[in-house]
Amino acid sequence: MVLTIRNVAKAYSGQTAETAVLRGVSLDLEAGTSLALTGDSGSGKSTLLHLAGALDHFDSGEIEIAGTSLSKLGDRQRAALRRRDVSLIFQQFNLIPSLPVRQNVSLHARLGGRWDADWGRQLTDRLGLSDFLDRYPEQLSGGQQQRVAIARALALRPKLLLADEPTGNLDETASAAVMALMLELVRESGTALFLVTHSAAIARMLDRRLHLQHGQAA
Ligand code: ADP
Ligand code: MG
Repeated sequence: MVLTIRNVAKAYSGQTAETAVLRGVSLDLEAGTSLALTGDSGSGKSTLLHLAGALDHFDSGEIEIAGTSLSKLGDRQRAALRRRDVSLIFQQFNLIPSLPVRQNVSLHARLGGRWDADWGRQLTDRLGLSDFLDRYPEQLSGGQQQRVAIARALALRPKLLLADEPTGNLDETASAAVMALMLELVRESGTALFLVTHSAAIARMLDRRLHLQHGQAA
């Protein structure tokens, strides 16, 4: 199992156990499969995704990434695990403005010691980026920037890909097309995808769906 979340609870400061954002969430995710998480705004989707990426601490329960229990890790070990096994795509693409596309795509994989130029070229070709490799992010459309963020995330060949409303800034037709391509690439690389979306249409494209409500996922 790439990701296992067992009975996880999380409250932000000022919240009680009763008003906590997450109140006993459990799920698991196998390699090469995809899971969509839906829920109202404020229901805790981003909170759960951050926990799944070892980016924040939870109050109780357990999370395992590729068999490693997060609660046993120190900050440095968590950072190492993230660099090696986890990629993230956010709604704001978080590209580095001072770097051209080709370096935005390769940077994380290089830092993780996993850059493979052939795979990188396949990604940029299939995502329609080969003519833009020397451009800077500000010289790209929103849709192109998003495809750079996807190429960057997959260049690492992560065990786990976390995506928080990655098509939130695109129109519906563009979203569906880029999601289809992303799902194809994810399946080929054996990556497990955990994706937050408010779009029922996008959620239906994934293997499984969970809905977050009142701090629980069902
Ligand atoms: P979603 O992604 O489903 O819209 P979030 O996980 O962002 O929901 O937020 C869930 C709840 O937790 C919201 O009520 C939000 O205000 C609160 N929250 C999120 N992050 C923080 C934080 N860093 N400190 C305090 N409260 C937070
Ligand atoms: Mg959110």
